[in-house]
Amino acid sequence: MPTPIVLTTRGLKKSYHKDRIDVPVLRGVDLDIQQGLVTALVGRSGSGKSTLMHLLATLDRPDQGEVFFRGNRIDNAPRAVRDRYRNHEIGVIFQFYHLLPELSAIENVLAPAMISQSVWGYFRSRRENLRRAEAMLDRVGLLHRSKHRPCEMSGGEMQRVAIARALMTDPTLLLADEPTGNLDTETGKEILRLLADLNATDNMTILMITHDDEIAAAADVCWRMKDGLIQTEHEEGLSERLATHAA
Ligand code: ADP
Ligand code: MG
Repeated sequence: MPTPIVLTTRGLKKSYHKDRIDVPVLRGVDLDIQQGLVTALVGRSGSGKSTLMHLLATLDRPDQGEVFFRGNRIDNAPRAVRDRYRNHEIGVIFQFYHLLPELSAIENVLAPAMISQSVWGYFRSRRENLRRAEAMLDRVGLLHRSKHRPCEMSGGEMQRVAIARALMTDPTLLLADEPTGNLDTETGKEILRLLADLNATDNMTILMITHDDEIAAAADVCWRMKDGLIQTEHEEGLSERLATHAA
């Protein structure tokens, strides 16, 4: 049985405008992300990977084309639906972590719960939120750092906090935009191992955006972005993985 498709794009186009000239970045992108797999999106710097991720995350809108989450159109959905999608269905991590510098690690991890719930809802469930935030920090191996601020942490530790924050709302899909791009090789590998473990142990679906062919080669499925289009590059190990997920 084929695995369900979590996220789909059809005919996505996006241009930026510079001095009244259209600069096309995406020229008709068709992408499928399958549940339970690590999918790589690889391409050179400037090829449009982050542009595509912003469309997938509904942080920006395409000029043309469609984005579907579990078969439902999301790119032009009402604001409340897009907010729900962003706050509950996806978790996003970035190259530069995007932690709030004045907050401690645990407060950064709690932030999505504060954003996605009403003030009363948040206070009603604050113990539960705190327990979950602690569990997520523990999941990434950083519970002992919960009171530390980002400036007191290493790059790898900050990225772990960012991953814990992305996991806070129990998302279906993790979108990772060059998550090791700012880290040394060894620390980068630790982050990749953590993401691989989230996939293997917790069955987390991951989109891994990278310019690094070696990282892309380790994914279950790889899409390459070039000249504003994408193509499937390999699906190695896919049949084995599908068999495991179907079992
Ligand atoms: P990647 O993430 O693959 O490095 P990006 O999606 O960031 O690529 O950028 C793709 C192209 O779009 C680049 O040429 C970049 O300069 C351009 N671009 C990205 N964002 C903007 C923007 N907000 N305004 C104008 N041009 C942009
Ligand atoms: Mg980018």
